[in-house]
Amino acid sequence: MITKLVLLGATGDLTGRYLLPALAALRAADRLPDGFEVIAAARQALDDGAFQRMAAERLERHAPDVSAAVRADLVRSLRYRRAEMTDPASVSGLLSGIRHPVAVYLALPPGLYATVVTALGTAGLPAGSRIALEKPFGEDLDGAVALNRLLAQVAGAAGEQAVFRVDHVLGLATVQNLLALRLANRVVEPVWNSRHIEQIDILWEEDLGLEGRAGYFDRSGILRDVMQNHMLQVLSLIAMDLPASLDEHALRDRKVDALRSARRLSRDEVTFRTRRARYTRGRLPDPAGGAGREVPAYADEDGIDATRGTETFAEVVLDIDTERWAGTRFLLRAGKALHRRRKQVTVRFLPAESPLSGGAAANELRIGLDGPEDLALQLTGGVPLNPPRPVPVTLSAPPPATGLPAYGRVLLDILSGGSTLSVRGDEAEEAWRVMTPVLTAWQAGLVPLEEYAAGSAGPP
Ligand code: NDP
Repeated sequence: MITKLVLLGATGDLTGRYLLPALAALRAADRLPDGFEVIAAARQALDDGAFQRMAAERLERHAPDVSAAVRADLVRSLRYRRAEMTDPASVSGLLSGIRHPVAVYLALPPGLYATVVTALGTAGLPAGSRIALEKPFGEDLDGAVALNRLLAQVAGAAGEQAVFRVDHVLGLATVQNLLALRLANRVVEPVWNSRHIEQIDILWEEDLGLEGRAGYFDRSGILRDVMQNHMLQVLSLIAMDLPASLDEHALRDRKVDALRSARRLSRDEVTFRTRRARYTRGRLPDPAGGAGREVPAYADEDGIDATRGTETFAEVVLDIDTERWAGTRFLLRAGKALHRRRKQVTVRFLPAESPLSGGAAANELRIGLDGPEDLALQLTGGVPLNPPRPVPVTLSAPPPATGLPAYGRVLLDILSGGSTLSVRGDEAEEAWRVMTPVLTAWQAGLVPLEEYAAGSAGPP
């Protein structure tokens, strides 16, 4: 297991909100190796003590469930180096004197990836080292192909084993549960096809607006931000054929096959199978039941260039051209500033052929990705009349005890060298191939930008 993590972008939001808390959770679970150390780097002029104080404060805010003693223990293993990532000498200086394999994590603005990966290649990482990158993997297909080519050069013979394209969704306990649901249940696989399933909805609904990420989001839009990566990862796990084993090759081969089978939408299809919209002024809900909070229209938010026409809501309907899925619709819907937070897969079964009158509702399986409900299966039972009158019955289960946060599992995979939670290069490219026709048609203005009030259910 690798004992040294070089964390580039150590003063940023991702590090403070997710990576440091994940390391604290790993420390609390005694999953970090002996002698574990973080070399944290960014441009700010800090010394070890100042960075440790910053980290301690962020841990207090974002990892309150980890004990103060464990947080302090983690903080002691953090070292800080000032570095300018646009300067190859500064990047290679971070590695000077390091002889053992390291994991280098790029928690940096994506515009710096190519420069930093090139500099790491020139500096020469110790054999057995790994590079982890956050999404987005390129801003489009060409960008992803170029980044993959560069990573392959720098990884050399180690190839994909040295590269971790992080999609933390793969580390969510519920997504792990989805895999188990498909692999370990006799009752699931026989009905997991278009003879029984009419439609599968993959929903990514957020009740928050920009939360200070205007600069990034306005250039990205929600399709690039969550649909091209997180949601297509979930789609691939749902639609894939079952892998023969759970090693990283077999699983990722099946996932990439599923993405390859997603039919590319024609320009004409984009006009009636996709929607895009952005929010106008409105009131976001308060989960605690309070009055909520007023937000301005997206176009009026600080740091937004309204003429870009960036979408905060997207809907795309895909077909998967395989024997298993011919005829099932896959609906992907993502939105910001909606009336509720719901990240969920809904599997809608065809209605049963039944002699009962009274309209038995079709079965529905709901798989929560990030919320209080994990699994719910909607069935139909009967009130004991003669003949029985159909009534809905729901079987539901709370999420499994998670143990580690998603980023904890992801970091553990990076340090220990497992690859199942990492997105392989060809997966990232196929995901862009699925979404590129949509983006191209949107850029050409073929689909109007609709509007919805913040705090509503989305465009009417
Ligand atoms: P931030 O802007 O908050 O942080 C960027 C970090 O990079 C800071 O530590 C900054 O430090 C450092 N940095 C920027 N430019 C340079 C430079 N030229 N030389 C050295 N250091 C530099 O971004 P986030 O943390 O939000 O995002 C980081 C990555 O993670 C992005 O790729 C983003 O897409 C991805 N991501 C973020 C998520 C989030 O919730 N925040 C979620 C999923 C992915 P300083 O200014 O001190 O140099």
